[in-house]
Amino acid sequence: MNGDLLVSGTRIGGLGQVTPPPDAEVVDISGCVVMPGLVQTHVHLVQTLFRGLAEDMPLLGWLRTRVWPLEAAHDEASVRASVRLGLLDLLTTGTTTILDMGTTHFGDIVAEELVRSGIRARFGQAMMDTGEGVPANLVETTRASLDAGGALTKRWHKASSGRIGYVYMPRFALSCTRELLEAVTQLAKLSDLLVHTHSNESVDERNALTLATGRSPMQYLLDTGIACERAIIAHGVHLDDSEIDILKTTKTSVAHCPSSNLKLGSGIAQVARLRSARITVGIGADGAACNNRLDGFEEIRLATLLARVVSGMGTLSGYDAMGLATREGAKMLKIDSEVGTLEQGKRADLVVLDLERLDGPGGDPVARILFGGGSRAVRHVLVDGEFLVRDGLPTKMDANEVRAKAAEQLGPLMKRAGLA
Ligand SMILES: [Zn+2]
Repeated sequence: MNGDLLVSGTRIGGLGQVTPPPDAEVVDISGCVVMPGLVQTHVHLVQTLFRGLAEDMPLLGWLRTRVWPLEAAHDEASVRASVRLGLLDLLTTGTTTILDMGTTHFGDIVAEELVRSGIRARFGQAMMDTGEGVPANLVETTRASLDAGGALTKRWHKASSGRIGYVYMPRFALSCTRELLEAVTQLAKLSDLLVHTHSNESVDERNALTLATGRSPMQYLLDTGIACERAIIAHGVHLDDSEIDILKTTKTSVAHCPSSNLKLGSGIAQVARLRSARITVGIGADGAACNNRLDGFEEIRLATLLARVVSGMGTLSGYDAMGLATREGAKMLKIDSEVGTLEQGKRADLVVLDLERLDGPGGDPVARILFGGGSRAVRHVLVDGEFLVRDGLPTKMDANEVRAKAAEQLGPLMKRAGLA
């Protein structure tokens, strides 16, 4: 559709032929495409500083020898620097909503930065009360982990007029006791919160959990109550037929992280198969330590390319791939009545793309954005009607300062982690 888009306060006030109120600011975006901001349903902002520090390793070794020691070495300043660097990346490449998993501590620091940045976020502190190779200061008692989640919910759930929300995040079943998972199920139900965890990511992780519990990962998540309509599992790469059935019948949704799955050599999720079983699938870049980019356009590009090879041409169209990172992501986060599509009355979470930057004129705009590196074309990004990126530049943070702070924190962080 060609036309104008009216932003009224935090919402889309009109589309097509609109008459702006006399005092309205008019922004000329002729030649541009306006689309819903991208929704990424699995990221780790606390890992942005670890970019390039955990290379050529499979999942469990990557966690035990790099990512966990680095997380254990975080302090307030390094968490803040890491989160800001990640938010800068996400916003300037067109992402307006994230589901972010933090580390065992510092949930308040992450929340403060989410509020300050203007991004829409659902976030949670990672919960771990057991686990092989987990550094001591990342393991909490079951009680402490649950109490921390409760306190963070009180402080931050529905903050900034609902822009921020809390989500319970048991990290993965290998680092959580059964008691913790069952308690999370109860608490999330009581407080009507979502639950987010990693599952069925790699063969080794799958085998380790099966050995420990005698169950397939999804059967175990079903037994503990985690698998349900309010649950989002990251990855879902190695799923057998009965597990896909569990996802389907419980309405558990899946965050597909193609770059991360390829980079850690984990495998390729059967996205087309999941979708034909009517399982809701979203998209996530995961953390910078396993991607290394946080570019949502890159993830949807990979998602559709991989689906073509794995399941055949026509199983995930370019348009549907865009949907994974917009309306489907919003649906998983239960905010699809507010964001994820361009409709009058919905929140004005928008990306304006300058098609001229995508190498020459003409052709299907969806294909040009999807396959041509859509993030290169980001001109403006708005959340709740507020410009967070204007003419390619962040409005609420100084990019040079964010990068300088990150560089300043990196050396001491590596030293504390014993990796210097
Ligand atoms: Zn992850």
